Amino acid sequence: MTCSVTCIQKCDYHTMDIESLLAPLGGIKKYVGKGDKVLLKVNLLAPKEPSKAITTHPAVVAAVANAVLDAGGEPYVGDSPSGLFNRSSLKRAYRKSGLYDLVRRMDLELNYDISSKRVLVPCGKKLKKVSISNYILKADKIIALPKIKTHDLMVMTLATKIMFGAVPGLTKAKYHSMFPRKRLFADMLLDVLSTATPDLFIMDGVWGMEGNGPRSGKPVKLGVMLASENALAMDLAVCEMLGIEPLVIPTLKRARIRGMWPKNIKYPLLSPSDVKIKGFELPSTARKKTKLRPRPNDRCIGCGKCEEICPRGAIKVAEGKAEVTYSRCIGCYCCREVCPEDAIDLVAVK
Ligand code: SF4
Ligand code: SF4
Repeated sequence: MTCSVTCIQKCDYHTMDIESLLAPLGGIKKYVGKGDKVLLKVNLLAPKEPSKAITTHPAVVAAVANAVLDAGGEPYVGDSPSGLFNRSSLKRAYRKSGLYDLVRRMDLELNYDISSKRVLVPCGKKLKKVSISNYILKADKIIALPKIKTHDLMVMTLATKIMFGAVPGLTKAKYHSMFPRKRLFADMLLDVLSTATPDLFIMDGVWGMEGNGPRSGKPVKLGVMLASENALAMDLAVCEMLGIEPLVIPTLKRARIRGMWPKNIKYPLLSPSDVKIKGFELPSTARKKTKLRPRPNDRCIGCGKCEEICPRGAIKVAEGKAEVTYSRCIGCYCCREVCPEDAIDLVAVK
């Protein structure tokens, strides 16, 4: 029986050691050859500073980029953040997240290609074809750099969800509308992952996010880095480490039903029980039985970004303030992800 190896290292951003982390997997040269164009697929959800723990930390990107360079590869950095996918939104996100400065210092490349292609989904459950961004398709190798964060809709956003960023811009909102139920959305995410599959996952768990992520939660120090070829094995390790029942996470539940869980996981470095974290807070959407829906608060500046992304036309700006029509709202929380002022609370509605 083949086994899935997941490596866990206890560290902070100054002491992380990518070479030691990857050694049990065969080292970086197993994944990167001379001259390979290697995409470092970051989590770049929103233009926010690294200290907010919303985006992959630049220290992780730097360490992995150095490893790729040492192996003779040519690293470049990319993601399709929430909201519009264009040069100016990318530039804003790169600048705020610290990646712009990092890439200039290291003389690397940032992706600004916003084109995409429809590609077949082999054995897709929900999608037969999917739009995949060309910055993904042109890579010889993909190293995904997810972050440990909570997620209002999917409970956690970990390795299994990171490739949703392969889908360009507002097409992501369209998929929210096409698959409004968590079960359907999770199946779609697994279809995307099976179409745009990274060669390697290296997870930023030094600082993560708890509470109402992926944008409005609280940064929390977890002090770990993980590496694996298998997204599900990695996410199961995170669940054990944080004391989360894996089946509360829709992607893991659907993967279990679809027979995708790895059967034999090995931890050659630390095991999740060596790095247990107590009291990790899940989003309120996972704890409450009632439906929670968005409600703009007094911080709303009427910028219209929520209206722009809402896949059901349920939120509109009138007289400088956003308002929600709950009969149309599907509770995808895209509006909360793009709100630059954190001006959207969650309230129980009947
Ligand atoms: S709720 Fe947020 S995104 Fe929507 S208009 Fe107000 S400030 Fe902008
Ligand atoms: S109002 Fe917000 S949560 Fe409701 S459908 Fe629109 S984007 Fe999704």
